[in-house]
Amino acid sequence: MNLLLASSEIHPYSKSGGLGDMVGAMARAMASEGQQVAVVTPLYRGIRERFSELKKSDWPMRQLLGSQVVEASVWMLEANPKLTFYFIDQPEFYDRAGLYQENGADYPDNAERFIFFSKCVTQLARDLPAKPDVVHVHDWQAGLVPLFIYHLRERAGWGNAPRSCLTIHNLAYQGMFSRAHYDLTNLPLDYFHPDGAEFYGGLNCLKAGITFADAITTVSPRYAREITTEAFGCGLDGVLRRRQHLLSGILNGVDYGEWDPANDTLLPQAYSLENLEGKRACKLALQRELGLPEDADIPLFSNITRLVEQKGVDIQLGALEEMLAAEMQFVLLGSGSPVFARAYQNLAERFPTKVVVRVGFDHTLSHRIEAASDFYLMPSLFEPCGLNQMYSLRYGTIPIVRLTGGLDDSVIDIAEDEDRANGIKFNEHSVAALSKEIRKALVLFAHSDLMQHFRKNAMTADFSWKRTTAEYLKVYETALQLRPAK
Ligand code: ADP
Repeated sequence: MNLLLASSEIHPYSKSGGLGDMVGAMARAMASEGQQVAVVTPLYRGIRERFSELKKSDWPMRQLLGSQVVEASVWMLEANPKLTFYFIDQPEFYDRAGLYQENGADYPDNAERFIFFSKCVTQLARDLPAKPDVVHVHDWQAGLVPLFIYHLRERAGWGNAPRSCLTIHNLAYQGMFSRAHYDLTNLPLDYFHPDGAEFYGGLNCLKAGITFADAITTVSPRYAREITTEAFGCGLDGVLRRRQHLLSGILNGVDYGEWDPANDTLLPQAYSLENLEGKRACKLALQRELGLPEDADIPLFSNITRLVEQKGVDIQLGALEEMLAAEMQFVLLGSGSPVFARAYQNLAERFPTKVVVRVGFDHTLSHRIEAASDFYLMPSLFEPCGLNQMYSLRYGTIPIVRLTGGLDDSVIDIAEDEDRANGIKFNEHSVAALSKEIRKALVLFAHSDLMQHFRKNAMTADFSWKRTTAEYLKVYETALQLRPAK
């Protein structure tokens, strides 16, 4: 099958969170299973410098954006004969310090930046030599693509247009802009109504995708159920219920080529279930690096996260306050809200021998933290899929997670299945509930045989991409059968 994937971030070229990881891994997995894969993404600052294999194509990109003509060029990187990356080079839009924001504030022209990107994706879908059967777009930044394709197919004579698939990685981010921004789409006004791209008087890019895509997926089965309810629907639950027949939940896979302690070149020492000595060495090395007391017998908790309310960093702060009297250590690597960053830094100042906080985005440190930790905290308010709990499992780092979305789908608590237990789950979103789970973890840590049982189950859990790609291929097949291609 010929696929075109479109995403505003793709690891290893750009990443702000799980979206980049997922699309990068999906592209490689689909290609290695024999699909012909093209991927399109913006050319952000620094990509060309870090990846010298990029070549400029002579493909011109000219888009009407409202009343302006905006030009771009396309850079290409052929990773292998089955996988080509296309980068949209529009320096005014993408040559910036951040992907979407700086200092916690969104760029004011994000509508222009990503409506333009969506138009470039649509043009690429028409121009690619291997014409895509399916254009698979991710999140609101590419959310208008299904509408553009629909429009060209139904009203502008693009008879053999590809099918479109939208994956929702986080319903809380919808790309909502004012009515005036709809003009940037250059579409007729008759898509701008409550059954189209309009949402409370403004433009909603994700809603446009949900309404016009031929298939809709999200990143875990439980989240697929949750988002059709008012509590998790972020105002779009009604639209999602109407489109439920096209909606499926597919748990993300893990790229074990990158996240496997046996082959992780970013670790001071590799390790595996059969040889856990390396994990101990990683822990001592991280304690040394971060200036914590070096002692393998002190339980080490960690969290690598965007500092936003969704991630439960507020209740985590409260629970740590409550629990830090115990013998334990905690490491946070996070970026996002300056208010949360300050609060965590305060905690570190008050508990200098127990807490280390690193504010910023640091890919290599994130690997070292995963390997070094005994427990990984993920007390999210909601979590579409979550990747770090699955990385943690493979690294023998026991995840402590709230019972929501992909966290519930990927972690097994002892109450659910004693034999297969690999983590700790809790339900109530409160400081008291999380403190209780940290207390449980301390008990678990003190019982090395039980800890070993959890570690074994964790490290042998398998979330490889094979299952995930098979499920997506089924979704594509169904979309292709929706209507015979004209
Ligand atoms: P989300 O996409 O909601 O941020 P996920 O758990 O799906 O959450 O994915 C987060 C990804 O981003 C993981 O790979 C995680 O390690 C990474 N990440 C998040 N914050 C940081 C950070 N400050 N430094 C390095 N990596 C980070």
